[in-house]
Amino acid sequence: MDKKVQGYTLKEWKDRYPVLNRIMNAEEVIWLNPKHEAFANIMNQLDLTHEDIRRAEERFDRFQPLIAELFPDTVSQVGEIESAIVQLSHMQTYLSRDYNINLTGNVWLKCDHKLPIAGSIKARGGVYEVLKLTETIALENGLLDEHTDIRTLASEKNKAFFHRYGIVVGSTGNLGLSIGIMGAKIGFNVEVHMSSDAKEWKKEKLRSEGATVVEHEEDFSRAVSEGRKAAAINPELHFVDDEWSYDLFVGYAVAALRLQKQLDDANIRVDEEHPLFVYLPCGVGGGPGGVTFGLKQVFGDAVHCFFAEPTESPAMFLGLMTGLHEKIAVGDFGLSNKTAADGLAVGRPSGVVGKMVEAMVSGVYTVNDQHLYQLLHHLWNEEGIYLEPSALAGFPGPYNLIGTEAGKAYCKKQGIDQQKLANGNHVVWGTGGNMVPPMVQQNDYETAKKR
Ligand SMILES: *Cc1c(COP(=O)(O)O)cnc(C)c1O
Repeated sequence: MDKKVQGYTLKEWKDRYPVLNRIMNAEEVIWLNPKHEAFANIMNQLDLTHEDIRRAEERFDRFQPLIAELFPDTVSQVGEIESAIVQLSHMQTYLSRDYNINLTGNVWLKCDHKLPIAGSIKARGGVYEVLKLTETIALENGLLDEHTDIRTLASEKNKAFFHRYGIVVGSTGNLGLSIGIMGAKIGFNVEVHMSSDAKEWKKEKLRSEGATVVEHEEDFSRAVSEGRKAAAINPELHFVDDEWSYDLFVGYAVAALRLQKQLDDANIRVDEEHPLFVYLPCGVGGGPGGVTFGLKQVFGDAVHCFFAEPTESPAMFLGLMTGLHEKIAVGDFGLSNKTAADGLAVGRPSGVVGKMVEAMVSGVYTVNDQHLYQLLHHLWNEEGIYLEPSALAGFPGPYNLIGTEAGKAYCKKQGIDQQKLANGNHVVWGTGGNMVPPMVQQNDYETAKKR
């Protein structure tokens, strides 16, 4: 009997969505989201608002002095967890030539690979969730009121107090680093559950920061759900839920308010005549989803957000296309979920995120490992920048937009003509890299050269 997925055979699925033929062969594809809507039509139906993002930004602001106290490398930016945007003119020339496209406008890199504390986009969401928990516990226990200097939370006495509380997180890597490093610094008893094939240096780093690493040979997702259950009955245990957390999501979304200021400071206009294209590597969806949600609040229809996933792990793609979100996984369609892009190796997308952004995402494209390594090699050569393989997934974005039939059809439908493209800006989100040890970076580069 034919295998069934949610009641339908694979043939029935393919008849309904022909692009699945290529997805199941792990070919690179671009898919345009038919549910994409004008933002004005949906902005009042969302669970979160612009105000929620603003409040999250205020919480980050309140905690800046403490962050600067705990992490000396943030002193120069007074405890702000933010990254620059840099223009990539050499890479833009390379992309034009290599993809044989006329890439006009300007190409920028959002340097989240340099975010302090975690060296990846997870620094925003993960740190934010830990800060919110810290503030809640501190207020409930009289460690903090409106007159207290937030830096007193760094005292040995308070650190010992927080050690009574536990944080549990399941992660294949970067989320664990972010929560583990930030949580342990406050004093929390942090337990990071990882699959045993997670990168060794990440485990070592976490242990050296004082977190406990629990390795799972198999059934990692069961371990995560056990963590979720344990935390549900223990008020002194907090579970960071990559699939369901609104705190992670709004923490990520703060990036949009910051990007708005950065573009403004650089005199870059974003409006109907000056479109902004943003390409976001996507795993479970929280990072790219939060950023997209924030950017839509700020720029509305002038911003166009595309998600990028590995050909072996197109989880959000399947969730959005079928509308089944967390009820569907890449394994259902025979894909391995094995990729060098370990930050994106997620088999099942977040349901809350998928539903929140299903009318905001312009489209999703996939990238294979070979392609990621090529980009790793050329970004290093052209601009001297190292990104981890996951973080390179944004670079094929401009090609997918202007070099494919589907992308061209999108531009036409949106009224984006040559003039607007020439006025426009492309932001490739560089989601991680700086925590990767120099030896591993060098290794990645050597691997990339040989490919
Ligand atoms: C986690 C991660 C992403 C994607 O974030 P999700 O919330 O999992 O979608 C992208 N790039 C890197 C390097 C990451 O670690």
